[in-house]
Amino acid sequence: MPGYDPNNIFAKILRGELPCYKVYEDDKTLVFLDIMPRAAGHTLVLPKAPARNLLDVSADDLAHVAKVAQKIAKAQMAAFGSDGITIQQFNEGAGGQVVFHLHVHVIPRKAGVPMKPPAAEKEKPDTLAEQAKKLSAAIASG
Ligand code: 5GP
Repeated sequence: MPGYDPNNIFAKILRGELPCYKVYEDDKTLVFLDIMPRAAGHTLVLPKAPARNLLDVSADDLAHVAKVAQKIAKAQMAAFGSDGITIQQFNEGAGGQVVFHLHVHVIPRKAGVPMKPPAAEKEKPDTLAEQAKKLSAAIASG
């Protein structure tokens, strides 16, 4: 497996070199909206420490990412009136991974509404800003 590339797009977001619609942050994780959501409110949970994917992340960071993913899922249920949550996480190109800093997708679902294909459409900035605000508020009150 190739090593960690510090110039991947999520590494740039983590360093503050590129913007994101942040919904949550703690000492070990950063959480922001996917700009090409597969469903409204699609959120990504990242460890702050460099890790390419599941195969090289430390067990402690992985466990913390899982805890935060649960927190986000519960907040999405409240913030968006979701009927369910889909969790996805891809490893290496053959596993469907496109951006090579570990991230867990937390995707709110509505009954009967299929997910869009990956990276199908960029969401409008206003919509993302509004969703980030709603989700942050639900996390804070959670
Ligand atoms: P994966 O690597 O798990 O296949 O997916 C990468 C995800 O990152 C996709 O869902 C895609 O929509 C999302 N993505 C790609 N570029 C950006 C970006 O610049 N900002 C954000 N927030 N998400 C991105």
